[in-house]
Amino acid sequence: MDTIGHYINGQAIGAGAGERSAPTFTPATGEQIGTVLLASAARVDEAVRAAAAALPAWAATPALSRARIMFRFKELLDRNLDRLAVLITREHGKTVEDAKGELIRGLEVVEFACGIPHLLKGEFSDQVGRGIDVFSQRHPVGVCAGITPFNFPAMVPMWMFPVAIACGNTFVLKPSEKDPSTALVLAELLAEAGLPKGVFNVVNGDKEAVDALLTHPKVAAVSFVGSTAVGEYVYRTACAHGKRAQALCGAKNHLVVMPDADLDKTVDALMGAGYGSAGERCMAVSVAVAVGGIGDALMEKLEPRVRALKVGPGTDPDSEMGPLITREHLAKVSGYVDLGVTEGAKLVVDGRGLKLQGHENGYYIGGCLFDDVTPDMRIYKEEIFGPVLSVVRVPAFDDALKLVNEHEYGNGTAIFTRDGDTARAFDYGVQAGMVGINVPIPVPVAFHSFGGWKRSIFGDRNVYGMEGVGFYTRVKTTTARWPNGQRGGAEFVMPVMS
Ligand code: NAD
Repeated sequence: MDTIGHYINGQAIGAGAGERSAPTFTPATGEQIGTVLLASAARVDEAVRAAAAALPAWAATPALSRARIMFRFKELLDRNLDRLAVLITREHGKTVEDAKGELIRGLEVVEFACGIPHLLKGEFSDQVGRGIDVFSQRHPVGVCAGITPFNFPAMVPMWMFPVAIACGNTFVLKPSEKDPSTALVLAELLAEAGLPKGVFNVVNGDKEAVDALLTHPKVAAVSFVGSTAVGEYVYRTACAHGKRAQALCGAKNHLVVMPDADLDKTVDALMGAGYGSAGERCMAVSVAVAVGGIGDALMEKLEPRVRALKVGPGTDPDSEMGPLITREHLAKVSGYVDLGVTEGAKLVVDGRGLKLQGHENGYYIGGCLFDDVTPDMRIYKEEIFGPVLSVVRVPAFDDALKLVNEHEYGNGTAIFTRDGDTARAFDYGVQAGMVGINVPIPVPVAFHSFGGWKRSIFGDRNVYGMEGVGFYTRVKTTTARWPNGQRGGAEFVMPVMS
């Protein structure tokens, strides 16, 4: 069994005196596979101090040199992709191909960060007054902390630290205690790429470690991705302690199906977006909105596909969907399906109680599909974060738009239609941060930025892309005048003060 520790100042760190720990499991079989150390406030302090000590030299390192380390890190990620994907599957449960997908999306942010010399170029205005010029520079903010969720143990940290580090900051990452190993491998690869000690540190842990980061006087900025309840707390606490903060949170993403949509393509999209990664994605589609009588035809095509979903261990290349993250989460998701039945929704496909031969203790649930879901139901209002798709039927486009806009979350959304005018009206009027037009999971590419609206985000900066550069830098604007130049050429008389 592995003991999963921390990575501080270029060194792997094992258990300290009195340090708490928690078991880690492999969701495919439910077996315990390791023990993760849970950092105390003193351990977090050690990591933050290491990051603070490394800051002056790293901030003064030319952006080109920082970018070259990112190039080497990208190469190492490419070379270690298979090994990392298997590690993610072991602790998270998602299929190996899906794990590779998350690694590649993270790697794309590293590629973006390789362009940092260009991205950090400032602004310049000459002659704003007579003989006066103004220029702005982007400086690092200092020690940055990242607090990340279980569902993307590689991609979400890589939404943050490549940009932060390339901008000249140092970083302390607190990954999810449910799948903590990937972050430690990323730390080793960064060191192999030539990153100086102390620039990137990992503390594993739970609330105690998070609280220590949020209140530490040497932490300048906090990035969080996770659930809304925790995100709101993290944002408020970080702000109350004078830090910059961004918290990307929960979601309930709607996919609107217009009567003119290509139904086969729409059903393919719903299957991937609703059940891929067992619905444990913040951009998963959990509500399909059937507009104007398309509901029956949609259900007719959707139901057999959900029944036929191949659920199995993530290491089996035939699996389309792996297990859920923990036994507790399995109970929570099954509980939501029970609740939907009680609330009066029509359970068309019931995935509860799935047992796989040889994996009887794994955290599996089959795909679940509800029809006739209404907005007053808790299964509609709350984020389930499992393979449960709710179909809501509405008469017209305006009703669909209103429905999406009245939901408390506004992370991503999508519309499937062949009509450009409808698509444009939806895109313009919808209250969500990321919109797909015939694209089910519109996670923006690395040179744009990721972020939702409403209670899917706290703070005013998205992650990665230029928003990320903005979050991880502070602007210094200089106004310069040089009144006494030496235009007369060389002077041969001994200079004296005038
Ligand atoms: P979570 O909120 O339980 O945990 C996120 C992080 O916060 C973890 O590192 C965890 O250790 C820490 N944490 C947990 N409870 C805490 C507490 N009481 N005080 C301080 N820190 C605490 O989230 P999760 O279950 O790991 O991830 C799933 C959630 O993340 C879903 O809600 C999903 O929508 C969301 N998510 C959002 C995005 C996005 O970009 N909007 C992306 C991925 C996941």
